[in-house]
Amino acid sequence: MQQPAPKPDVLAKRAEIIGGLKAILPNDAVIGDEISLKPYETDGLTAYKQAPLAVVLPSDEAQVAAVMRFCNLHGVRVVPRGAGTSLSGGALPLEDAVVVGMMRMNRILEINYADRYAVVQPGVTNIGITQAVQDEQFFYAPDPSSQLACMIGGNVSMNSGGAHCLKYGVTANNLLGLRLVTIEGEVLEIGGAHMDAAGYDWLGLITGSEGQLGILTEVTVRILRSPEGARAMLAGFDSNEVAGACVDAIISSGIIPVALEFMDRPAIHACEDFAHAGYPLEAEALLIIEVEGSEDEQTDMLRRIRDICAAYHPISMRVSETAEESAAIWKGRKGAFGAVGRISPDYLCMDGTIPTSQLPNVLRRIGQMSDDYGLKVANIFHAGDGNLHPLIMFNANDPESFHKAEAFGADILCLCVEVGGCLTGEHGVGVEKRDLMSVQFTPAELAQMRGIKTAFDPQWLLNPAKVFPLQ
Ligand SMILES: Cc1cc2nc3c(=O)[nH]c(=O)nc-3n(C[C@H](O)[C@H](O)[C@H](O)COP(=O)(O)OP(=O)(O)OC[C@H]3O[C@@H](n4cnc5c(N)ncnc54)[C@H](O)[C@@H]3O)c2cc1C
Repeated sequence: MQQPAPKPDVLAKRAEIIGGLKAILPNDAVIGDEISLKPYETDGLTAYKQAPLAVVLPSDEAQVAAVMRFCNLHGVRVVPRGAGTSLSGGALPLEDAVVVGMMRMNRILEINYADRYAVVQPGVTNIGITQAVQDEQFFYAPDPSSQLACMIGGNVSMNSGGAHCLKYGVTANNLLGLRLVTIEGEVLEIGGAHMDAAGYDWLGLITGSEGQLGILTEVTVRILRSPEGARAMLAGFDSNEVAGACVDAIISSGIIPVALEFMDRPAIHACEDFAHAGYPLEAEALLIIEVEGSEDEQTDMLRRIRDICAAYHPISMRVSETAEESAAIWKGRKGAFGAVGRISPDYLCMDGTIPTSQLPNVLRRIGQMSDDYGLKVANIFHAGDGNLHPLIMFNANDPESFHKAEAFGADILCLCVEVGGCLTGEHGVGVEKRDLMSVQFTPAELAQMRGIKTAFDPQWLLNPAKVFPLQ
């Protein structure tokens, strides 16, 4: 993968830069030795690795601002980092960049149940927000499968989603306010604890900006009342296409389950092996459908969904009867990426979105591509949102196999655009899809986006290798 040319002046002044950072931060907040930099070389897209120039670990907003002022003055590139779980290489370092790790800024600052919001630092984990409010029967809705590790600053920067975003929306729909430190070290306060904001929709602009416009130091999120109850059901089908058609029928009927997830045969077997959730091993494709509400609401919705599924001749249908059964169903789904790692240690996790009516067509064409490339694929995804995650299995010890996997992945994403969808669903562009952006956007559109980046970051110091094709 091509990276922007490193700045020779910055590389030559490495020791001086590390010394300068130590002068503005506590000694233990600056990492410069080769061994200690190792854990920061990669993120969830492990196919790419690059050691940074240094890593800093600020503990408060003033320290973030001091680092930004220093880097801006010395023309040093900056890569913000949360937990490093990005699957698109969003947190991949550059040789001449300082990685700003946000994990020490991990405090919950305020919880307001009356007005239903929480103010948190960016290094609070996604699950940490729900854990902080669940005793009062509240929760934070977006639930990426990486929620035990990934941090809210990373979630905002990638506009992350999750299984339950079908009903509640993604991060953007659950955000109220932000504090952002610019590359000049200025603090911007955007939105607040209230609905909407005067003027341009800055919140929308910063959400999903992949660490390219500033560093988030505070996030205000909506918290919601927990539902009265929830129940999951499983429906197994004898082909991916039929299961895809059933998803479209459920969504177009107007029913909104809280989650509607899809697994194909390789995924069903991998997940059942470790979760023992009772997934139907004879099925080619499985839908996990969850509804929530009062007992009556759940019963009514499940009845309507079962009627729709029945029209697609499922080979099995089962509604979970206990909280333990539901938990096992979700344990399998949420651990799916790890489970596929047991079949193939190396895989690329793609992420694209399509209209749900295209599911049967796109799943069929992915199957054909898998045959053409001679690489296996497992499909596990947020079907109700049309958000695909084909996992392309390859052998990392064989460069040809890796290149084939990359080409296969690019073909899938181009297909998503071709059928009226989008290059990303929830994992962002990062380095992974950077060179495909011109498939989705015209030169004029990309120029406008570059103009916005330049307005925030005139020297292009903030995470510059991501999102835009290298010129
Ligand atoms: C097993 C697994 C399952 C996953 N499942 C899902 C899923 O279901 N849904 C989903 O959406 N994603 C999923 N992901 C992807 C990933 O977890 C998300 O993209 C997540 O939001 C990244 O958060 P992070 O804290 O790890 O951020 P990082 O990976 O460290 O960074 C991600 C991006 O955010 C920027 N960034 C981080 N913190 C800040 C900050 N404070 N200010 C400015 N920029 C910042 C970085 O520069 C980078 O561009 C999964 C990943 C894994 C490994």
